[in-house]
This record gives sequence, C-alpha cells and structure tokens, in this order.
Amino acid sequence: MENILIPNHWYNIQADLPEPLPPDIDILDKNGSRIERIKSIRLKECNIQDETKEKWIPIPDEVISKYKDIGRPTPLMRARKLEEFLGTPARIYFKREDLLPTHSFKLNSAIAQAYYASKEGAKGLITETGAGQWGLALSWASNSFNLKCKVFWVKVSKKQKPYRANWCNLLGAELIDSPSKLTPLGKQILKDDPLNNGSLGISIGEAISFASNNPDFKYVSGSNLPHILLHQTIIGLETKEQLKMLNEKPDILVACCGGGSNLGGFIGPFLEDKLSNPALRLVAAESTSAPRLTKGEYIYDYADPGGQTPKTLSYTLGHNYMPPPVHVGGLRQHNGSPVVGLLRHLGLLEAFAFEQDDALRAGLLFNKLYGILPAPETCHAISATINEAIKAKESGNAKVIVTCYSGNGLLDMEAYNTIASKNTI
Ligand SMILES: *Cc1c(COP(=O)(O)O)cnc(C)c1O
Repeated sequence: MENILIPNHWYNIQADLPEPLPPDIDILDKNGSRIERIKSIRLKECNIQDETKEKWIPIPDEVISKYKDIGRPTPLMRARKLEEFLGTPARIYFKREDLLPTHSFKLNSAIAQAYYASKEGAKGLITETGAGQWGLALSWASNSFNLKCKVFWVKVSKKQKPYRANWCNLLGAELIDSPSKLTPLGKQILKDDPLNNGSLGISIGEAISFASNNPDFKYVSGSNLPHILLHQTIIGLETKEQLKMLNEKPDILVACCGGGSNLGGFIGPFLEDKLSNPALRLVAAESTSAPRLTKGEYIYDYADPGGQTPKTLSYTLGHNYMPPPVHVGGLRQHNGSPVVGLLRHLGLLEAFAFEQDDALRAGLLFNKLYGILPAPETCHAISATINEAIKAKESGNAKVIVTCYSGNGLLDMEAYNTIASKNTI
C-alpha cells in the first residue's frame, strides 16, 4: 500500500504563496547589519534556499540515501480503531514521523543541514533546542557526517528530558544548559535572575552569540525558517503520493505548530489544492501555554528575547513573553514561522489551542488503542483530529482527516507521569 519512492525534490512553498513573504526588517547595531551577521554564521546553501522562488529543489543524492537509511518513506496509517472508538464516519490517517530513529520528523532537516555543513567544510554545528527533539536530531546527523555538535539547551526542558540528553551525549554532542555563563546574554540573565528557567528565545540568542565568535562552527536551527520548512516538505510530498495510491482526497489536514516546520512541511505541498479548492481545511494545533496563532498579533518582532535577530513578520505574543514551564517544549515559543503567519493572515490556515492535560489525555487514548505513546506536541494534533472527527460524526459527513504524527513520546514519560499523578486520566 505504501510502496512509493522517496521524492527526489523538495517543494518550495514560496513559489505558490498568494503574496510574497514579507521581508525581514534589518537592524543596524554596533556589529553592523544583523541580517548580514546571521547569514554569515549560517550555511550558504540554506541562505540560498531561504530566498529562492524556484518551485522544486533537488534533494542531493547523499541526503536521499540517508533518508532511505532512516526508514523513509514513513508509513501513512489508517486509524480504524480510533474511528471505531469515536463512532465517527470520518476516515483518519496518521503520517508516522515518530518512526524515524530519533523519534521525530526533525531528522529530515538535520540530515540536510549536516550534509550541507560537511560540503561547505564546517568543523561543527551550533544550535539551540527546547524539548530536545531538535538537539537529538542534530546530534544524530552530526555524528553521521563526522561533525562536532554543540547544543544550547533550554535549562528547564533539559531537566525534564534527562534520557534524551543522555542519548545526545552518547552521539558525541556537547550540551550546554541555557542560560549559560558562556555568552554575555546568558551572563546578564543569570545575574538578574539566577534561577531563570530559560526559553527557546534565550537559547537562540546564546547560540548566535557563540557562533559569531567561533567561525569553524555553523549556526543551524530546527524550525521556523523557509529552508527548514522546505526540507520538511518530504513529509507532505510522501503523504500526497500515499493518498493518491489509496484513492483518497483529504478534506482536513492537521498538524501541531510550534515554530511551524512540521505543519509547513506537511501542508505545504497541498497549498495549490487549497487555493483551487477552498473547502480543503488546513488546521494548526497549538498549546494554550503559547497561543500565538489564536491569541497573538500579526506584527514584526524579534525571534529571541535578547533582540539579537532581525525582525520578522508573524504571529507573536511579544518577545518578552515567558511561557510557563510546561512539558510541550516544542510548542513553547513567542512567535513562529513567517510562512505559517502569512497563511494564517490570509485566512488559509485555521488554528486551535489545547490545554496540555487535555492533549495528554488524547495521547493516553492513542496509547490505549495502539500501544504507542505520542510526543506531547503530537498530542495536540491528535486532540484537534479527535475534535474534527467528532464534528464529522455530528454532521454525518465521512470526512477524510489526515494528520502529521510528529513524534514519539517515550522520552517524554515524565509529562505523562504528571497527569497520572493528578489521577485525571
Ligand atoms: C519540534 C517538534 C514539534 C514542533 O515543531 P514545529 O517546528 O512547529 O514543527 C512538534 N512535534 C514534535 C514531536 C517535535 O519534536
């Protein structure tokens, strides 16, 4: 049934956006142009991919071969037991990105970026991570391309994910608790608030600052930017082929949304379908702890609270927004992808926010039915899927709902333990 080939091109959503992506606003400070400074610490190929309007970008052979090694194409699973449990006429499918070796879709871009880094002669990669899925994926990819890897890890999230951190260490990565004493930004924050929990924004600021002083290392990110959404379109392209083979046409596409890369990569290849058929619904599921798309404003803002980045236009809660230390690390940031922001702004994307405990209970239901434990972020997409399946039941419509199952939650067990201890399952 899923006997499809790995696509040999990524799809560039910028080619089909109804309006061009609004340009970033540069800021000239004592170090000169921020746009230029950040470009200079990133990979050249990724800078080019951020700008291009070419619709199809060839996937290098070495990357395709790694994609095969990690088990791509991933299966598209029909969730019949969930349909039966809900008593819905809807047909529900999950794209199983949790089956990749590091348990999430993040490896799709980590492999591409590590490949470009090795081609461009970098010694190593520097990044930031929240829940650690990106840190783990980059540790894996760096190990596989013989690169060093340094990760600024949001302090509170690292504490919550000790085994994920251990695995990064086994893959040879160096992990740094953020805020750290390695950068002026980290030092300042610790001086004002020695117990600061950290945030993804602070880690971004620290990683940029560190990379600027260590030119052998390239600075890479795990979400948000156009080149990362581009690499993640492998998910949507495979899904499209798999649905075609099943003779199914999706009515609703669902993904959870943090920085927006699994959402953008999953729905991106369906944008043309959406533009020609407005009845196709694109749905983002976010966390009530960082409700950018449902409660934020569409304005220019920095991506980091240190104000070290240029300003980008997207939905934001303000760069000083400090999300509560919940378990859905991957959904805890104040802003998100400009591509996702534009889709929302143009009315092409719906968004719903879910409470963490409700989302985790949907995850427990999934575990009960299938014996697989979704990542806390994925639980938000499952909640949105269940809501849509119930609406389909109420209206008696046999909708086809297709959801990106972004990751596995085995290393997020403490999140499940907190709700088990509240005895509210
Ligand atoms: C990182 C992550 C997310 C959210 O990231 P996006 O960039 O919004 O896609 C969702 N699910 C899992 C499992 C993750 O690791």
